[in-house]
Amino acid sequence: MSLLIFLTGIVFIFLYVLPGTHSWGKEGHYITCKIAEGLLSREASEAVKSLLPEYANGDLASVCSWPDEVSHRAGWRWSSPLHYVDTPDFRCNYDYCRDCHDFARSRNRCVTGAIYNYSAQLSTYKNSKFTDQYNLTEALLFLSHFVGDIHQPLHCGFLGDEGGNTIILHWYRRKSNLHHVWDTLIIETALKKYNMDLSMMIEDIRTSILEDWPSDVPAWESCGVNQTVCPNWYAAESISVACKFVYKNASPGSTLGDDYFFTRMPHVRKRLAQGGVRLAATLNRIFLGGYSLLYHLTDDIFPECSSNTICDRENQSAC
Ligand SMILES: [Zn+2]
Repeated sequence: MSLLIFLTGIVFIFLYVLPGTHSWGKEGHYITCKIAEGLLSREASEAVKSLLPEYANGDLASVCSWPDEVSHRAGWRWSSPLHYVDTPDFRCNYDYCRDCHDFARSRNRCVTGAIYNYSAQLSTYKNSKFTDQYNLTEALLFLSHFVGDIHQPLHCGFLGDEGGNTIILHWYRRKSNLHHVWDTLIIETALKKYNMDLSMMIEDIRTSILEDWPSDVPAWESCGVNQTVCPNWYAAESISVACKFVYKNASPGSTLGDDYFFTRMPHVRKRLAQGGVRLAATLNRIFLGGYSLLYHLTDDIFPECSSNTICDRENQSAC
């Protein structure tokens, strides 16, 4: 086989197989990013296309799971705490200064901090002063992925059960954990039960955005005066949804089936819709006019923390 044919083969696999396969965990990100793509302004859409890697073929959704694919690879492990933020058990609230840190208690290293960081980096687009400082392709892929992650309620779950990862239970007849149920299995079950493919589910959610939630969408999109991103709101919503609906009736050893699926699927749909709408709104604000000065990178891009209280698994009673 000539090298050219071999390389063409690899490109073919990348372009045509990858976006269609969506192995575990990819569907939610694909849906969120696909919904966002349809809501981008002309300026934002052009900026996104110019930053995408060539193999994405202009399609943001096809590369929205890239941060998950690399997070356990050598050289990228630093990024794995950026996919979530855990909150104290049963408090059902979220506090940036208390909760946003990694295992080493290093502040801002969580999903909300990462959203602040990568949106600030992207704001330097077209500002030649910063051209060598940031990899804006990576910043775009991280931001697009993390806005999806923060809308999965268990990416803002409890410290004690690692966002549902240690709650071992059955999803119908299959052994799993609660986190995986919300990452993947509810969406997968919906595709099977309603005999849909991914594009049909995306269309179905788009229709709901237009017909069921049109009066909610402006509030989803808005971020407060002069704010480009507002991940703290999304995190607070997520832990609230987790307390009201996700953890309920899902104790270790339980079996979740139709009752759980039919009552929780509407929440999954809504979180996917909100993630898509907000990713588009954020990118539209960042690339407004193609050149953004919304951030002054000399300022601290993260929320200021006056208290020293950091909450982690070992010291929950003290925080
Ligand atoms: Zn992730």
